[in-house]
Formats: sequence, structure tokens, C-alpha cells
Amino acid sequence: MTALTVHQFPCLGDNYGYLIHDEENDLTAAIDTPEASKIEEALKEKGWKLTHILNTHHHFDHAGGNEELKRKWGCVIVGSKSDAARIPGIDEQVGDGDIYTFGNHKAKVLDVSGHTQGHIAYYFEADRILFSGDALFALGCGRLFEGSPEQMWTSLQKLIALPDDTTVYCAHEYTQSNARFALTVEPQNSELQARAKVIDDLRSANKPTVPSNLGVEKRTNPFLRPMSSDLQETLGMTAAPLVEVFAETRLRKDNF
Ligand code: ZN
Ligand code: FE
Repeated sequence: MTALTVHQFPCLGDNYGYLIHDEENDLTAAIDTPEASKIEEALKEKGWKLTHILNTHHHFDHAGGNEELKRKWGCVIVGSKSDAARIPGIDEQVGDGDIYTFGNHKAKVLDVSGHTQGHIAYYFEADRILFSGDALFALGCGRLFEGSPEQMWTSLQKLIALPDDTTVYCAHEYTQSNARFALTVEPQNSELQARAKVIDDLRSANKPTVPSNLGVEKRTNPFLRPMSSDLQETLGMTAAPLVEVFAETRLRKDNF
């Protein structure tokens, strides 16, 4: 089995579009559809035909291109069963723990609700690739538009449980402002300090900071680190339950 090929390209203001390609079966899926025209350009550039769309959630910058692309390609649209009513053109509904087979590659579906109800992530276990949508960002996590901190923390714990050598493809280039915030809540974290410098260099060269490595996220992303005693101390919450530390971190980011 050849590895799953991932092609990444910018869309809209700060979204990333992704095409994944299974060479043996000549299958190509778009992970979300932030901008149909950019996805068309990417398909042309790679010489691939769109066979699938794998949606993470219903927001317009994730599913807005579904219908136009389906009209043109007749592709199969896969999305969350608990968000099905809001995913345009959905054909196949998947839920937490399901395995979605994409050619020779299998994606485990993880319900990571919190940003929205029914938000899912796709984890290609053998390839160690995670498409996290707007649930987990490089050094950040999604805003809680529809879920509680309890729900989001439950979701993020599913991602924490994945192996450190997982590559995380998130949906937005938010990393530099996330890094500025992260340094305010865990200024003692030397790996975070070093990462923030690398991120500044990448962004001043107009280069993406995405994908990232899950092990690095676990060591530097404050939303995965309510157990950090340094972070707890900054927040003045040394004896608090982890979910409360997470909730306070999210609240501070909302007001950052
Ligand atoms: Zn969103
Ligand atoms: Fe988004």
C-alpha cells in the first residue's frame, strides 16, 4: 500500500483546502470544500478527479463548495450523521468510532463536538494523519459556538489519546495569534517559546505553519494542557478539575 498523498493549498482568507489521493484506486477526496474554484485549480494541477468530499462540519467555509463540486463531479459526500441536516448534498453519514474506507486507506471517525454539534475529525490510523477541521488548531482549538467546555474537553481528550507521531492537518492558519495567546498562559514553557519563534519566521516568509505534529501540540498547545502545573499556576487554578482549567483557558482566549 502506498501512503496517502495529501495536497494542501490556501483558500479564502485563512482556510486550508486539502485533497487526499489514493493512487491504486485513483480516488481523490476533498477534506471540506472551503472554496470550489481553488479546489478545481488544485485538481487540475495534480491531474486528479474528485470522487469524494469528507466534511468535518457544516460551516460555510467547510461545506460551502459541496453542491457546486457535486454537480460537476458527481462525487460522494461524507459527513457527520448528527450534523446531516446541515451538510449540503450529504450521501453517507458517519459517526463516532465508525471506520470510513477510502480505497486502501481507513479513516476512523471521531466525534469532536464543541465548535459545532456533530463536528467530526478523520483519523487515518495507518498513515498517522488527522484532519481536525475546526476542533483542534495548531496551538489552538475551535471557538465553542454550539458546545460546552465539558463537551469540547471530552472531544480534545480523544485527540490527546492519539499517537504523538500523528500529523495534524487543521482547517485554518491561526497559529501565530494562537502562539501569542499561548505564551500568556504558559510563559514558562520553553518548547512553546521556541515554537513561537519558528512560527514567526515561517509567517514572515509567508509559509504555512500547518500541518503540525500531535506530540508537539500535546507539549505546547494550552488547550491540550490543563494538566500543566505552570498553566494552572498562571490561571490561579492549581487545585481545579482539568475541565475547569480548560474552560478558563478558552474563556481567556475568547477575550484575548
Ligand atoms: Zn467552523
Ligand atoms: Fe472554519
